[in-house]
Amino acid sequence: MIRLGNVLVSPGEGGVYGERTLDGYRVWDPYRSKLAALYTLGGGLDLTPGMRVLYLGAANGTTVSHVADYVETVYAVEFAPRPMQDLLEVARRRKNIVPIMADANRPEEYAPFMEAVDLVYQDVAQPNQVEIAEQNLAFLKPGGHLILMLKTRSVDVRRDPEEVFAEARAGLEQHLDVVDVRWLEPYHHDHAAIVCVRRGSLY
Ligand code: SAM
Repeated sequence: MIRLGNVLVSPGEGGVYGERTLDGYRVWDPYRSKLAALYTLGGGLDLTPGMRVLYLGAANGTTVSHVADYVETVYAVEFAPRPMQDLLEVARRRKNIVPIMADANRPEEYAPFMEAVDLVYQDVAQPNQVEIAEQNLAFLKPGGHLILMLKTRSVDVRRDPEEVFAEARAGLEQHLDVVDVRWLEPYHHDHAAIVCVRRGSLY
């Protein structure tokens, strides 16, 4: 990952969502992106030029655009029409983003457009976040990584975030090894970034 001093940046064309630039790089703000927060807190996984990424919960392409600055291809899944319009505009200006309008609960609908990926990144803020991740493991190479941004309040706003996290972790550990966990304070409240590695062979 590229840092100028302690500022996280990415190396693509600017002007995507009004982000600042620094020495020709795009500033990647941890308050606007959970993935940037994870890197800023010292966690995460280096994004490299040969990587293929499945991104679930692309929204309007803010974080997608930074990921695309680092990797080979981003398959960006979003189901809401309004953010999808913005995502299409972002994808128009970058050759390596494949926008997919689909429900991440129904991976069979986008399986025909997919190839095996090195990283599944998920930020969907849904009650069944772990289940969605499990359904999409079919696309993840053995040894590949899952980064799940767990929004505990979306699972159950009345329960203790730590308890929600422990349950999610146990679910993920049925298929994956959890290699890092970071709570994203002070950038994003009640969010845990869970970084996992896939074991075994392709499904
Ligand atoms: N990752 C984005 C970023 O950093 O710029 C922000 C994502 S926002 C918190 C969550 C997004 O996930 C919303 O745009 C929502 O429409 C989308 N989403 C939620 N459930 C989904 C699903 N089942 N399939 C596809 N997209 C979903």
